[in-house]
Amino acid sequence: MVRFILLALLFFLGYTLIQALLRALTGKRPSSPPPEKTAQGDTMVKDPQCGTYVPRGDAITKVIKGQTHYFCSTACRDAYRGDES
Ligand SMILES: [Zn+2]
Repeated sequence: MVRFILLALLFFLGYTLIQALLRALTGKRPSSPPPEKTAQGDTMVKDPQCGTYVPRGDAITKVIKGQTHYFCSTACRDAYRGDES
């Protein structure tokens, strides 16, 4: 009888351990990316001309006075003059 209780206890402990392991393995789901980043992990940059947010990798860049500006399209890039006049 004592042996049976011991076996049941071992079985229970083993079962609990396996459950904990499975939970640890399957519980690690990747969290949804923050809104400032795209699915590719690219940073969102603001088009100063029209105010649209575009992934930095897809943005059209223009360096004005040593500062890089990001645009959604060449039309915006060409229209943007920054603070130069
Ligand atoms: Zn734009």
